[in-house]
Amino acid sequence: MDIGTVVQLAAATEPGSDGAWPALVLAALGYAVSYAISIRLHPYRPCRRCGESGKHRGAIFTRSFRDCRRCGGTGRELRLFARER
Ligand SMILES: [Zn+2]
Repeated sequence: MDIGTVVQLAAATEPGSDGAWPALVLAALGYAVSYAISIRLHPYRPCRRCGESGKHRGAIFTRSFRDCRRCGGTGRELRLFARER
């Protein structure tokens, strides 16, 4: 089930105070399942500090660099709840 199906299901339920929260729970569940599959397929995201370059540039000598401390020079970091493999 993808997120589009969940949204359709949510839209199909009755509007009003009774129908609103099961649809919300369903949407949240659908999102969680999608995310769980997604972090297995793509466990990494670009490093937020160096933006995937893996380099920390010098302020004056801009061609000089060292490994980014956040990602250790890999340019990538694990996504939330993702496992190293
Ligand atoms: Zn980095």
